Amino acid sequence: MNVLVVGGAGYIGSHCVRQLVAAGHRPVVLDNLVFGHRGAVGPEIPFYEADLGDPEAVGRILREESIELVMHFAAFAYVGESVTKPRKYYENNFVATLRLLEAMLDNGVNKFVFSSTCATFGEPERLPIVESLPQAPINPYGQTKLDVENCLKAFAQAYGLSFAAFRYFNAAGAAEDGSIGEDHDPETHLIPLVIDAATGRRENIKIFGTDYDTPDGTCLRDYVHVDDLARAHIAAFEKLEAPGVGLFYNLGTGRPNSVREIIEAVEAVTGLKVPVVEDARRPGDPPALYADSSKAQAELGWEIKFTEVREIIATAWRWHKANPDGFGD
Ligand code: UDP
Repeated sequence: MNVLVVGGAGYIGSHCVRQLVAAGHRPVVLDNLVFGHRGAVGPEIPFYEADLGDPEAVGRILREESIELVMHFAAFAYVGESVTKPRKYYENNFVATLRLLEAMLDNGVNKFVFSSTCATFGEPERLPIVESLPQAPINPYGQTKLDVENCLKAFAQAYGLSFAAFRYFNAAGAAEDGSIGEDHDPETHLIPLVIDAATGRRENIKIFGTDYDTPDGTCLRDYVHVDDLARAHIAAFEKLEAPGVGLFYNLGTGRPNSVREIIEAVEAVTGLKVPVVEDARRPGDPPALYADSSKAQAELGWEIKFTEVREIIATAWRWHKANPDGFGD
């Protein structure tokens, strides 16, 4: 299938491009390179540096590349910034997505795969998080993603759009060959920051809160390998053949790991000592978030290849060692 990967030069998008090729599809990438890296996409992949909110550019690509399905990974994803700059988040995550959907419908493309987030659940009333729990985001980032989810439901009903929306837990790790991986600026995610503290690129890692009601007092999260995420997306394609299909899946391993466990795992994988500073809680961090992904496993036949967080960290470490400056751009 000819697949337009919007945000295909970003972290999850670029891994998905690789998995699409492996599964026999033909990815075409659209990325404005604000957060994406040109080097994350192989030179053999058709690449368009354009904005997803530009309907003329998107329409032309959809027609010229005979696109049948659009995967959308491009979004701003800094929770704290979404609180101080909500306009930016509504503009980029919601309004631009609406423009993208319009361009699709105007050009007869009606299959869509959307990156959503467990942040749409806010502080869940129960764990693990199943798809049927109420969604109540606690920041504009999560709200913009939920707004898109609701828009998709209405578009499926009214216009026959078929979509799958995936709520990711904590995407982590890198391609197994170490050739592409995580490179955010600024980096806020725990695993790359702990690796930087291990190698001395950062002075230390600050643990945000040690007094949570969890076994070791630090937050629990569900770290899921980026290639496992990518494979779930592709497994949904055949379900989108009929018009008006709307699917929602939570994607995580279902295994919670604490911040301290991640630090220990990085020490075990790298053989390096991580300097740690215990710090205050980060505002807006729920104590525990982990997924029940049995729906994706049952309906999509999704198999989680990386079930142990150490295996995930080992892939991140391989990428980091080979590319200490990331993509170097
Ligand atoms: N965290 C931390 N120190 C850091 C960055 C993150 O203690 O420098 C904690 C954070 O409070 C959360 C977990 O690590 O409990 C994962 O954070 P991350 O930002 O990677 O992902 P999030 O769960 O916020 O999406």
